[in-house]
Amino acid sequence: MNIAVIGLQFGDEGKGKIVDYLAEDFDIIARYSGGSNAGHSVLHNGKKFKLHLIPSGVLRGKIGVLGNGMAIDFSVLDEEFSSLKEEGIEPRIKISSRAHVVTSFHKIMDEREDEIIGIGTTRRGIGPTYETKVKRVGIRVGDVFDDNVMLKRLKLATKLWGIYYEKEVEKEARAIKEQVRKFKEFIVDTEIWLNEAIRAGKNVLFEGSQAALLDVDFGTYPFVTSSNTISGGMLSGLGVPPRVIDKIVGVMKPYMTRVGAGPFPTEIFGDIAKELRDKGNEYGATTGRPRRIGWLDLPLLRYAALVGGVDEIALTKVDILEGMKKIPVAFEYDCNGKRKYPPLHIENCKPIYNELDGWESIEDDNLWNYVRMIEKEAGAKVRIVSYGASREDTKLIG
Ligand code: GDP
Repeated sequence: MNIAVIGLQFGDEGKGKIVDYLAEDFDIIARYSGGSNAGHSVLHNGKKFKLHLIPSGVLRGKIGVLGNGMAIDFSVLDEEFSSLKEEGIEPRIKISSRAHVVTSFHKIMDEREDEIIGIGTTRRGIGPTYETKVKRVGIRVGDVFDDNVMLKRLKLATKLWGIYYEKEVEKEARAIKEQVRKFKEFIVDTEIWLNEAIRAGKNVLFEGSQAALLDVDFGTYPFVTSSNTISGGMLSGLGVPPRVIDKIVGVMKPYMTRVGAGPFPTEIFGDIAKELRDKGNEYGATTGRPRRIGWLDLPLLRYAALVGGVDEIALTKVDILEGMKKIPVAFEYDCNGKRKYPPLHIENCKPIYNELDGWESIEDDNLWNYVRMIEKEAGAKVRIVSYGASREDTKLIG
């Protein structure tokens, strides 16, 4: 059995916890997109781990794959790897020879470009790394071991960006070589390794990063990340055929958050937003930025569940809304007429809210009415309800 876990909102739905919860039954946890712009926080044996690149399944001794669809900053990987080792965890990882390497130049360009474009990226160099990949001047992990190839590509990339200085490029090439060489034993053609493992009967959990509404094609463009984060992204991001995926699990919260700029029709401000932000600890795992807060948006949820092909849902953080008398939920949009799904431009849509009764605890009927409402609207069964950060605070249904 191979399953995929994807975020159904704007990220930070608690995918890390759900992947960690499910990881037990899998041999391999494979990531297919993004880089250190993503961040999971996972509570493991009472300790909080923040992981940006390494799949959280390694905490349970599983093999973590960093797929070809990723943009890897080896300085971040090195830090993450060392901090896991300090905690007594020996990460078992496989790094794709075809993943693209983030260099200092990519990070510089991310900053410069974001100053102009104003999307509010995490400035980790991820966007520019996909930019050089598509421009065909990127450096793949496996290219680093050929000095000529790496130097040539770095020269081309920096020339295209107008930041070429020979000495700087040579220095960076040496630094990258040094960083990547430390991981040489983990670098393989993961598309071959993974497909062979699947054929041999190993179970794989495909771990999405960011979320459906940040997907470069299906998100709120241009306020999106630079890769395909929906379930479809794993096919090209790991080199596996569609038929290997048996089930897709979408992770969502009963409210919504968003980091950085971009449309957010159900956004709320003031005291309630602050209360939920603090109670839910809604501050970025990667940047520490306070997350924007809003009510559940069903047009966006229906869309994410549809294009993500979601079979089951994991509903997290139901404890954060506990004690609220009424919970507003946007059932439709008014954008010159009622809409069940979001139109291409959602900026001018006004959410039409209904209020649902709030719940006092996990046992409360009102929570289960809410769960049934989500199942009906998203067209998928809610199989997991999470009511706390630790693994024990999880209810499996059915
Ligand atoms: P991810 O990127 O989707 O994994 O999300 P983050 O790691 O950024 O955010 C999830 C945060 O919420 C983490 O700190 C988790 O420990 C925490 N968390 C996950 N599920 C729950 C839950 O059901 N209740 C509470 N209170 N916290 C949760």
